[in-house]
Amino acid sequence: MGRIFAIKKYAIHDGPNIRTTVFFKGCPLRCAWCHNPEGISLFIDRIWIKNKCIACGQCLDECISGALFLKNGEIIRDGERCVACGHCVDICPALAHESTGREADVNVIMEEIKKDIVFYDQSGGGVTFSGGEPLYQPHLLLELLTVCKKSGIHRAVDTCVHAKAELVKDVAALTDLFLVDIKHMDSDVHEKFTGVSNGLILENIRLLARMDKEIRFRIPLIEGVNSDPENIEKTGRFIAGVAPESRVDLLVYHEMASSKYDKLGMPLSPFTFRKPKGKDIKRCVEQLERLGLRVFKGG
Ligand code: SF4
Ligand code: SF4
Repeated sequence: MGRIFAIKKYAIHDGPNIRTTVFFKGCPLRCAWCHNPEGISLFIDRIWIKNKCIACGQCLDECISGALFLKNGEIIRDGERCVACGHCVDICPALAHESTGREADVNVIMEEIKKDIVFYDQSGGGVTFSGGEPLYQPHLLLELLTVCKKSGIHRAVDTCVHAKAELVKDVAALTDLFLVDIKHMDSDVHEKFTGVSNGLILENIRLLARMDKEIRFRIPLIEGVNSDPENIEKTGRFIAGVAPESRVDLLVYHEMASSKYDKLGMPLSPFTFRKPKGKDIKRCVEQLERLGLRVFKGG
């Protein structure tokens, strides 16, 4: 049993061809530009969205724990009483209650994955485990990888590899392709924007390369964070050194998902992020290509 927050069908940006992407809850990083804030916490929260509520009162009547009550026109949830049954989410006619994730066991997730086997077979696609951070729930990830492997399904893991080397090795033994972000080569800057230093991440990338695993690198390209010539040069040299001629996807920054943060009651980052200018993106591509890397632009 584990916790996920979404299963996306027909995904075409999460690895090769048509894929099903399973988003795990929980992440050890706190990237200041995170576009999936609902994936950060391992815990499943229920949220009430005031402007959707039509004040029918159904959830107040039906909550089995008496955890919901009305105060000054707002529906308040008593966290002590709520047993996270999800009934308010299921019955609200206005979809004003939402859940930031759900409990799901391997069989339930596999049922969804197997519905799309025909698309994987036709397109050469498969399943991608993403998040949050899939290695944050190792038991769920390893079980899913094992079952998918037995079923002959191509397996990609989208990870920051901020995890113990032993776990990375176990995951690698069951994985066909890794999608790995490199956010910054300077450890202090990395820590400033993500909450953790980059030492363990770079070490695990070297480990995967030594194991001859296929790695597709991803750089979230953000002006004022990592798109400067010096950092791009260092990033490119690192990648070319551990895995020459690798594919690098530049994920060009786009606006923060501020409505998601509002909904979750989470504060927005105090930093201001910007999309790099066209000429800077071009320069990043050229710098990386000069190092023999195969660069693709997205975002
Ligand atoms: S069931 Fe939904 S619409 Fe009705 S009071 Fe509760 S939150 Fe509002
Ligand atoms: S999740 Fe269940 S217990 Fe919690 S508020 Fe909703 S109905 Fe009540």
